[in-house]
Amino acid sequence: MGRIRAFFGGIDDIDSAKQSTAGKPISVLTAPETLVVSLLQHAGAEAKPVVAKGDEVLKGQLIAEADGVISANIHSPVSGKVLAVEPRVHPNRAAVTAIVIENDGEERWVEKNPVTDPVQLSREEILNKIREAGIVGMGGAGFPTAVKLNPPKEARIDYLILNGCECEPYLSADDRLMIEYAEDVILGAKLIAKAANAGAIIIALEDNKPEAYEALKAVAGAIDVVKLPTRYPQGAEKQLIQAVTGREVPTGSLPFAAGCIVNNVGTAWAVAKAVRDGEPLISRVVTVSGETIREPQNFLVPIGTPLEYLLEQAGGFVEAPGKVIVGGPMMGGAQFDLQASVGKTVSGVIALAEAESHTPNVLPCIRCARCVDVCPANLLPLRLEAYGMNEMFDHARDYGVMDCIECGCCTYICPSKRPLLHYIQYAKREIAAIERNSK
Ligand code: SF4
Ligand code: SF4
Repeated sequence: MGRIRAFFGGIDDIDSAKQSTAGKPISVLTAPETLVVSLLQHAGAEAKPVVAKGDEVLKGQLIAEADGVISANIHSPVSGKVLAVEPRVHPNRAAVTAIVIENDGEERWVEKNPVTDPVQLSREEILNKIREAGIVGMGGAGFPTAVKLNPPKEARIDYLILNGCECEPYLSADDRLMIEYAEDVILGAKLIAKAANAGAIIIALEDNKPEAYEALKAVAGAIDVVKLPTRYPQGAEKQLIQAVTGREVPTGSLPFAAGCIVNNVGTAWAVAKAVRDGEPLISRVVTVSGETIREPQNFLVPIGTPLEYLLEQAGGFVEAPGKVIVGGPMMGGAQFDLQASVGKTVSGVIALAEAESHTPNVLPCIRCARCVDVCPANLLPLRLEAYGMNEMFDHARDYGVMDCIECGCCTYICPSKRPLLHYIQYAKREIAAIERNSK
């Protein structure tokens, strides 16, 4: 491995706020009596239900199948009975169809078909098992993994980069996963590399995770494990590729254009469980933290667990939170209904105090250019904000708004407390809608 390079922009003195959870082992959450399994836990089309109200289901049984190429299978996280297939509140949308399951508490599994030597499977066999298991990018994007690992034939993948940076404040789910499941992460990396025909494997994590680094190094063998400086947003895909390989992903292109594929360490763990153990993706590690949480910690959570139940298992609130966020505080989404449930991409549930949640007084831009200095995508956030606010979408597009990775650095650093990202996201959404409608 060559020299580690810095990516452009970013913030290196952000308060990581990880100390309240990073040192505690993962707790296995007892599944609630009722689980609400959304049909949209991934990028692309909603999955199609293959069960109906009244059906008995086994743990790990297919309950909804991928609808098209960009979609993902969904499996039952428990054994029990389907109570309903109906619209339910979703962490990022108003309402999405969900399969509501009454947990019988018996943990009766579907037949699993484990494999004793998974690395000996062919590339196609591994890809099929990943697809069948409904695995999607667990770092937040939720792109179906089997599709990501099957780039165009002409693409040459030199590097599989496993992303263990977890640069968002508060989150320590990936850190604990790397410490406690290092062997699974390494096996998953080998399987992903084989499926993607990748040349070399690099596992990258920030230098604020020394225990995870040592745990991985102890079992990594010839795989490169590299420490990167702690700097937000180190874990963003393009920034990570630049830091680790020195390569730049061209505007509007995907990582394979730079000979790379990036997967989250949680995805690697899920791949190991799917291919070796025959277990679909029905649980994940979630950080529950924030100033108002009584007992912050990481849980291994069945998919479909309502946020309200999960928060209760962390002791509930010491005081009413000002805001509950799914994901990290920089890129996550505020929740208005705690009946929403944990999906495959939910890395954290963060309950912030009132003082951290209030909307600040927005002042005029003083043209200090701090937002420009921190933008890792090399954009002019102050201009993009103005174009978004004034609905000048052609200008926003010309100034590269679609390259924004929505890291929130500009909003974080702005001394005038301007809602830069809000208007940038607005412009991106509108441009995407215009392009869709013009097809
Ligand atoms: S950081 Fe805020 S005040 Fe400074 S140039 Fe950007 S928008 Fe204006
Ligand atoms: S414009 Fe986008 S990429 Fe640049 S700092 Fe703001 S949110 Fe991040």
